[in-house]
Amino acid sequence: MTPAAKEATKKADPLERLRKILSLEQSKGCDNSAVMGGLDRFLRTLLERNGLPAGSPVAQALRALPPGGYARLSKAERRRWLDGALAAASGAPLPAPRGPAPPPPPKDVDAPVTVLKGVKATLAGRFENLNVRTVRDLLYLFPHRHNDYANLRRISELEPGADATVRARVWSAQETQLGRRLGSEATVGDESGMMRVVWFNQPFVARQLRTNDEIVLSGRAGLYHGRPIFENPEWEPWGRGEELTHTGRLVPVYPLTAGLSGRTVRRLVRQALDEYLDLLAEPLPDALRGRLRVMDLRGAVRAAHYPEDQDEIVAARRRLALDELLPLQLSVLLRRRRWQQPGASEPLVLRPDALDGFLAALPFALTVAQRRALDQLLGDLARDVPMSRLLQGDVGSGKTVVAACGLVAAVANGHQAVMMAPTEILAEQHFRTLAALFGADGGDGAVLAQAEPAYLDRPLRIARLTGSVKAKDRAEVYARIESGEVDIAVGTHALIQEGVTFARLGFVIVDEQHRFGVMQRAALRDKSARSAHLLVMTATPIPRSLYLTLYGDLDVSVIDELPPGRQPIVTRWWPPERRDDAYDFLREQVEGGRQAFVICPLVEESESLQSKAAVQEFERLRADVYPDLELELVHGRLSGREKDAAMRRFRDGEARILVSTAVVEVGIDVPNATVMLIEGADRFGLAQLHQFRGRVGRGADQSYCLLLAESPSPEAQQRLRLMQETTDGFRLAEADLQMRGPGEFFGTRQSGLPDFRVASLLDTRLIELARTEAARLLEDDPELARPEHAALARDVARLFDAVTGEVH
Ligand code: ADP
Ligand code: MG
Repeated sequence: MTPAAKEATKKADPLERLRKILSLEQSKGCDNSAVMGGLDRFLRTLLERNGLPAGSPVAQALRALPPGGYARLSKAERRRWLDGALAAASGAPLPAPRGPAPPPPPKDVDAPVTVLKGVKATLAGRFENLNVRTVRDLLYLFPHRHNDYANLRRISELEPGADATVRARVWSAQETQLGRRLGSEATVGDESGMMRVVWFNQPFVARQLRTNDEIVLSGRAGLYHGRPIFENPEWEPWGRGEELTHTGRLVPVYPLTAGLSGRTVRRLVRQALDEYLDLLAEPLPDALRGRLRVMDLRGAVRAAHYPEDQDEIVAARRRLALDELLPLQLSVLLRRRRWQQPGASEPLVLRPDALDGFLAALPFALTVAQRRALDQLLGDLARDVPMSRLLQGDVGSGKTVVAACGLVAAVANGHQAVMMAPTEILAEQHFRTLAALFGADGGDGAVLAQAEPAYLDRPLRIARLTGSVKAKDRAEVYARIESGEVDIAVGTHALIQEGVTFARLGFVIVDEQHRFGVMQRAALRDKSARSAHLLVMTATPIPRSLYLTLYGDLDVSVIDELPPGRQPIVTRWWPPERRDDAYDFLREQVEGGRQAFVICPLVEESESLQSKAAVQEFERLRADVYPDLELELVHGRLSGREKDAAMRRFRDGEARILVSTAVVEVGIDVPNATVMLIEGADRFGLAQLHQFRGRVGRGADQSYCLLLAESPSPEAQQRLRLMQETTDGFRLAEADLQMRGPGEFFGTRQSGLPDFRVASLLDTRLIELARTEAARLLEDDPELARPEHAALARDVARLFDAVTGEVH
């Protein structure tokens, strides 16, 4: 008992004692710590011992408490009750037990964490390292796991090595030398026995423990001289009538940062839960919650921190994940709906004879998969609803020709079209390929090309808009696009988004190589091409869960077949001892007239280190291994011009071997390249290895991919084996996602997805559920305009702004 409390009980007058304790409680911030065992017990004892009449102020004050007693009140309620009870104890009349309460001070869950007790600037700064700035952030700082301390034991029952909790009295506690540092040591006991407890490096614990205090200890029991011992257990006082925070239950384990202990985080999260949880607004409409049987938000947040049992954690996390997935799906569908207004766009119908003419002019027949994708594309273009379609096909599956046919449809209807590529070199390649397909001369440095294909009753003019186009030429191209003289513009995303004005843009193609997320695409569309038909092309096979989120706004066509006559690339994973064999093999191919890629290992620390390593590797290969051959080098630190020059020399066959880092797009079509040697192959993900490998095998000759790895981890070995086994991009993508998670799968920060705290992109079922529910909600309330959807609508808007940095 605290000295003040002791003094209070000594006094004869129970009213005086009551007043003392109540004021003490008030001055201590209403945390139910004025008396050991809690205020409720004190009040009951006081009442019983003194046989106070029912009409006494003490009895009245007791009656003003709800069934759970003082311990169950919130801080604000406690303050109110204390005021009333003190007034009664001093002789003033008690206010009506549940009368109109004075308005509590306004609380804001978005206030900085410094509003919490004991949080000063230093501590707030440490929380910032965890991205926690406001009380809301703290409520959403979820533990990554829980320690199960629910197992309450008597001291005599403790089993060494098992997590357990004991309730015991402090017999003695003192600071002590433990090893070289000061720590604390205590002896505690319960009815079954006693045990030693030590805390290393924590001398202050001893000062907090008083003889005869009842405390709860949780931790992993050990043995010391044949007796049980706890080392660094969690502990807290017992009997304040409050919920346990650090012990005796499933106790949250939080992500930590320097200077911030788990104990501090738990204490503050507890405070936030007690005082601010009620301010969280429920975003999910009742009907939906009922149908999906999900917890309410406050219950879920509470349970994510302090669950009753494991099942409750699962249920809470499911609910919280849904909160993240649902707004994403809503925004995806909402945008899709907004674009897809009937009558919003011009139908671009390609007459059958023109289509036949285009196909007849090709040097090859389309594969069945290409033809199917083409029919879907032309079907969409022929409608007055803007197309939103994803064309997915492995590297080399022949997407370009399908897209080109769509371009013809646009031009045939007097509309302009644009094709955007992620890199300069790819944009140039597209320009050249398209010009050739249409029968125009798009060679050497051409900026404009004109074709007069037999299947069109008008000329077709195509322009190149890449960085290497000189300012003067560029101005001219811009002018011609604006006047409508150019039918098709081909360029990089950046250049085209810079603000080209089209006379009558009807069709937009984005060749995106997974650089664009759904939100960026939405922003692009809202900004520039609301009514144009949109085709997105990607060579990355995308697992369904990701497709639903990243490309959920699009319909999909898949080209799941390679053109005939392609020989599957032979892939070999060789141990480092065979590096010389690999070099010899490369030389053989090059001397036979072919070309080769060498990919340098990934250096994750920085791009400049990566480039340095590539330069070294290049120098070594040139000096020691292939002194007689022409080599080229590209890495991230080269200027755009230097990079392009190197790529061109390789493309044109002047350089026989291209040494490259991973950061540099090798998305270049060099049919004569037949070998790809990947150094440090264990450092790359499957999707990326597959992309690299797709750079060879584009011609008729047998191609090879050689994988070298110094000492791959078991998981990397699994990847390398899989690369040997299959060239099926979908299988590889699915495996990659499972093994490395979505962040790695797409490369850091490229996915354009928001950071989820709880949701997992591997949880296809929950994503599908969010999708279905989002569709159902919009069916019901297409603009999310109803009051019960207001919170969701806000989340959708917030999400969009956060990802695109736009305000709308
Ligand atoms: P990607 O899907 O990777 O963009 P491309 O469109 O660049 O593939 O096509 C790869 C190569 O295959 C090109 O040289 C292209 O001319 C050729 N090609 C495309 N379709 C066929 C086909 N049906 N038959 C034969 N070759 C084709
Ligand atoms: Mg391509």
